[in-house]
Amino acid sequence: MTDPPSPGRAADKTTNKYRAISLAVLTLTFQRSNSYPGSSEKRKKRKKYKMPEKLRQQAVVARGPKRLAEQFRQFRTGHCRTGQYLEWTKNSDTAACGWCQYKTQTREHLLKHCRKWKMQQKTLWAEVRKATGRGKDRFTVRDLLADQRCTRAVLDFLRTTKVGSRVGPRAVPPKPGEDGEVAQEGAEEMEAGGRA
Ligand SMILES: [Zn+2]
Repeated sequence: MTDPPSPGRAADKTTNKYRAISLAVLTLTFQRSNSYPGSSEKRKKRKKYKMPEKLRQQAVVARGPKRLAEQFRQFRTGHCRTGQYLEWTKNSDTAACGWCQYKTQTREHLLKHCRKWKMQQKTLWAEVRKATGRGKDRFTVRDLLADQRCTRAVLDFLRTTKVGSRVGPRAVPPKPGEDGEVAQEGAEEMEAGGRA
């Protein structure tokens, strides 16, 4: 017994034919695009992008913890938690140093003058002198942070102090709902002060 020719078979045949044609077209297109003059050559000729030395992360920074690397980056660019910056971004209504009450807490104040971090400053500047032959008085903050020979010493300073992540125990809580993180840190610090 043979099956009667179904209408489906004829349709199958047509579909197959179309499939074969579209496959051929595809193959042809693919071959053409591959042999298209210039496309891959152009790509090869273009110079590979290389990040400028200045913007690249130094190996000594990259090797350490990510959090410290981020802190260092912020400190270097000036977008860090100092009294001056927080006042400028309107997250605090005073620029004063929370540790020693000096009127403006800048990076320079923290690296050179703040009484709270005297010991750490001594270590920092001794290391800097060892690496560069220049002392505290001959370095601006900008030069210090740009000089790769000083990076390790600065990283150690940031790691052993709370500089750049806090302005001090008197961190002024911002207006509610604006920057909860700062308020929380201030509260933490006060707690710690209460316990001590
Ligand atoms: Zn201070």
